Amino acid sequence: MAVGEAVSYLAAARALAHARSIAVTTHLNPDGDGIGSQLALLHALEGLGKQVRVLSPSVVSRTYAFLPGFERIEVVADPAQAAAIGMVDVLISCDAGDLQRLGATALIRRATLINLDHHITNTRFGTINLVDVSGESSGVVVERLLRRLKVPLDQRLGECLYTTIVFDTGRFMHSNTTAHTFSWTARLLKTGIDAASINRCLTYTRTLHDLAIQRLGIDHLVVDAQEPSLAGISLSADEIRAVGEPQDWGDLVELPRSLAGNQVAYLMRESKDKATVRVSMRSNPPFDIGSVAQALGGGGHLQAAGCTVSGDLAYAQAQIIPALRRQLAPAAKAQ
Ligand code: 5GP
Ligand code: MN
Repeated sequence: MAVGEAVSYLAAARALAHARSIAVTTHLNPDGDGIGSQLALLHALEGLGKQVRVLSPSVVSRTYAFLPGFERIEVVADPAQAAAIGMVDVLISCDAGDLQRLGATALIRRATLINLDHHITNTRFGTINLVDVSGESSGVVVERLLRRLKVPLDQRLGECLYTTIVFDTGRFMHSNTTAHTFSWTARLLKTGIDAASINRCLTYTRTLHDLAIQRLGIDHLVVDAQEPSLAGISLSADEIRAVGEPQDWGDLVELPRSLAGNQVAYLMRESKDKATVRVSMRSNPPFDIGSVAQALGGGGHLQAAGCTVSGDLAYAQAQIIPALRRQLAPAAKAQ
């Protein structure tokens, strides 16, 4: 661990030890890593006698309803709701690379903001920046922090933290899966969690509507004519409306990625008003798509990143696709 990180863990643990009221938030369209991290903090900090509220800047998918404490999550989607929370001693941001990602929860009044994250592109927006890029998930960062607070692992924490690692390693399939991942996860299993049951909740809970979205994705799957190792799905506002917007887009970007020979994959989704496009990108090492997302105002990891492009779908495609081809070109030529 870098010296700076050791100092941040200590500073964050100290701030939490002294706090009375704590709010825990995560990024817009929260995922298994953000929610699992938040709920682990909820249980641990309440166990230490703190007043804790768990907030989300947007609706939380029912996929995570099995997690202990799920019903405690409050949606804070506008400035009035943020003001109603009042002043807290500490606001903890989980898994968010920049302040914009916190939506309305960025407005919550606080004495200290702990920015707990593992993204390489994190903008260090906190009062205390607990940004540990060696963590496979933000949940790993949470667990390291809990060790400083002398909170032992138990089954509830195990369930929340297991969800973070399953989500952020793509079920132990992404390139961030290492020997550490398995030994860390083994410690969670020893708390008595039912991993198979959690896996079912996270993976085998698709609705017919989710499958209709998969079909929409297959229908719009395009392999790039110039770079065959680049493939993606672009969905216009009208195409999404025809099927109905899902609450959670799941891992649709994994569909182009699953093609034999694929190195870089993308998913583009035009907003209802056609004013913005959400872009998800994935790559295999050594191809870096984090820098592509960052150059367009987004961020993430080297191999999993996203951004929001202002403009319609055709405009976003013109920005993204040539940039992704450029990431592939030098290495392809060197082979
Ligand atoms: P996804 O494609 O699943 O939405 O996101 C992939 C990764 O990139 C996640 O770790 C996510 O937190 C990060 N990410 C996605 N969109 C953005 C964005 O607009 N800004 C930043 N900073 N990170 C993002
Ligand atoms: Mn994460």
